[in-house]
Amino acid sequence: MSRGRQSTFALLLFPGALVAAPLLLPEFYITLLNYIGLYATVALGLVLLTGVGGLTSFGQAAFVGLGAYTTAYLTTVFGVSPWLTLPAGLLLTGLVAWSLGRVTLRLSGHFLPLGTIAWGIALYYLFGNLGALGGHTGISGIPPLPFVDLELRSGRAFCYLIWAVLLLLMLITRNLLDSREGRAIRALKGGSLMAEAMGVNTPRSKIVIFTVAALYASISGWLYAHLQRFVNPTPFSLTQGIEYLFMAVVGGVAHVRGAVVGAGLITILKQWLQDWLPSLLGKSGNFEMIAFGLLMIFVLHRARDGVWPIIQRFYPPSVVRARAVEAPALPRRPLPAAGSVLLEVKDASKRFGGLVANDRMSFRVRAGEVLALIGPNGAGKSTLFDGISGIDPLTSGAVSFRGERIESLPAGEVARRGMSRTFQHVRLLPAMNVLENVAVGTHLRGRKSFVAAACRADRDEESRRLREAAAQIERCGLAGQMYELAGSLPLGKQRLIEIARALAADPCLLLLDEPAAGLRYLEKQALANLLRRLRAEGMGILLVEHDMDFVMGLADRVVVMEFGQKLAAGLPEEIQCNPAVVEAYLGGVE
Ligand code: ADP
Ligand code: MG
Repeated sequence: MSRGRQSTFALLLFPGALVAAPLLLPEFYITLLNYIGLYATVALGLVLLTGVGGLTSFGQAAFVGLGAYTTAYLTTVFGVSPWLTLPAGLLLTGLVAWSLGRVTLRLSGHFLPLGTIAWGIALYYLFGNLGALGGHTGISGIPPLPFVDLELRSGRAFCYLIWAVLLLLMLITRNLLDSREGRAIRALKGGSLMAEAMGVNTPRSKIVIFTVAALYASISGWLYAHLQRFVNPTPFSLTQGIEYLFMAVVGGVAHVRGAVVGAGLITILKQWLQDWLPSLLGKSGNFEMIAFGLLMIFVLHRARDGVWPIIQRFYPPSVVRARAVEAPALPRRPLPAAGSVLLEVKDASKRFGGLVANDRMSFRVRAGEVLALIGPNGAGKSTLFDGISGIDPLTSGAVSFRGERIESLPAGEVARRGMSRTFQHVRLLPAMNVLENVAVGTHLRGRKSFVAAACRADRDEESRRLREAAAQIERCGLAGQMYELAGSLPLGKQRLIEIARALAADPCLLLLDEPAAGLRYLEKQALANLLRRLRAEGMGILLVEHDMDFVMGLADRVVVMEFGQKLAAGLPEEIQCNPAVVEAYLGGVE
């Protein structure tokens, strides 16, 4: 069967099986299926948060509890309709997650997971100790869900609801990932510097995915409460929170469908081990947890990406990847008049503790000019780039860009004003194709946000963005690699992707950090031609480069740095015969 027909077949088979299963299966399997659906809903949030965004949370069970307890309390005490308690639970969970996120997401490294453990435990004890919530006994007598004229009382009827909700959330998650904000989220994992340089508000992106994951958990809790018709704190403990993470990791934490695979595998395996291990060992006890611990270690050693990528290997799905399409061009920023001063750096200094990496550097870049910044390794060129572009602020000094002081602005705000840069150590998203990587550069040229993306109302803008990305890719000579994974290309081509991404932001000043390193001779020539065309269009270019032929053939003026200081400045031919420069480069050899 061809790949296309195979996936259409699977696409029809899966919902078909879902519709038929609750009618045909015995009660025991229905219950199992219900739990898999409920767990997968929570694990799906973790795919977004941990798998894609790189933020680990052990505390999702507490959010499930918030959803469950909200409906339990409101329906039993005030007789509120369960369909109204769902939005109430989402609102409460959203508020709690947003506030917790603001505090915890600032923590870095292992402090973030520790933070989630802390509030996971805190919320669990809150459920158990609030008298109004029934303490450790919990709340019983939760009404069944009314549905049109009937009530969802049986597990069979509930099975449809749970899986319909799960499929809907999977669709929303997929839409979200395949969008402007989705690319921003995917960019978080590789360290957020690049994303910030492209204008992504990374703290906001983190809080949003944290809240979305909490909302998924809350929906699962609401469903759980009306399925069980009884809640107590036990299923919302830290142990359960760890299990959710476990499911996401086993399934394949970076894959939407991995959430279902992981929840399914763990739930079935747990059931099976609970039944068999005690009779096998002749003792009763929670032996399945020991087996799980061993399984987790095995997974982390042998299949770090989880089970879903292994399934994918045998059955390659039709991967949803962005493709370039015909669309109207994005509006362009008017370029400043050629010859006008774009960038003015004055007495820029940067200290790392005792090390002075930049020492009172001053220079100007005009529109329609290539200014080369050269100097030996360690002279402080990349540090200066970071200071100018707002990635790592200067210690002192002033930077004006198009007449506005920018030295204390964050990177995103600098980018918004029309400065775009590449990195000496390329910062790409290796698992995304070239087109998607370059499209990250268009982040600030659109405004469609999470909600629009989730319900696919962003398609017009998205096609314009992809068209722009494709145009810049062609301009940089990468048309043949547009759909290849960025990580699979040689370093020279990766540098060109960085330039295309910077151009996709529609800048008027381009900062290029060693763009020609790793390029072949013809590629270098093509790059020089591209930079000449950009200059002719009126773009200002600040260029750091070690290849002297490249620099001297291209630059209008050259600034030489050594030990963080300006050693010389002038026309290329003046610099080439400047004794101090020759000394710095050749160490005094005649
Ligand atoms: P160049 O790009 O000219 O090769 P860099 O700007 O990368 O030089 O580095 C200039 C100096 O600053 C080097 O001595 C480097 O070790 C130091 N440096 C750069 N970044 C940091 C940092 N984050 N912390 C401490 N020292 C740094
Ligand atoms: Mg450098």
